[in-house]
Amino acid sequence: MNHATPDFSVAVEGVTGACPAGEAYAQQNIRDKKVPVFSCEGPCIRGEIARLAANLVAQEEPSFARCCHAETFFVPHSSMARWVKQAEQAIMIDGCFLKCHGRILKNLIDEERIIHIDALPLYKKYSDVFLYTDVPQAERNEVARDVATKILERVRPQ
Ligand code: SF4
Repeated sequence: MNHATPDFSVAVEGVTGACPAGEAYAQQNIRDKKVPVFSCEGPCIRGEIARLAANLVAQEEPSFARCCHAETFFVPHSSMARWVKQAEQAIMIDGCFLKCHGRILKNLIDEERIIHIDALPLYKKYSDVFLYTDVPQAERNEVARDVATKILERVRPQ
């Protein structure tokens, strides 16, 4: 197995149309000058902790709002993408050192505008677990709560 990928590109098929709810949500966030908060997510416990923590971070700081990474990356004509491109700052909470989503975001906006967080060192658990369902829901919520508190201490505007 190779342990590094120096660089690569992935072709993405074009798309027509827009999500009406996503358009309205993103346009409101543009008007309100909200800071977009991204996370990776998925069936992996690390992605799930990042996602839960990102939800709390966005809920608990009025100047932040959750952003849809997929619409931002894969629907470039969407208001979601426009919101991110014109935001003065963006917060990306990745699940582990591989920083999958942050590596994409860096190609979309200036790296200096991204606060890029690897959530795993903030709780240091589950290194031998993959599926999020292998950790009880109450424990996932508790860990995410702790991670969100640490992130908010770092990123909350003073
Ligand atoms: S950063 Fe880690 S947890 Fe997030 S998608 Fe990549 S491999 Fe999964």
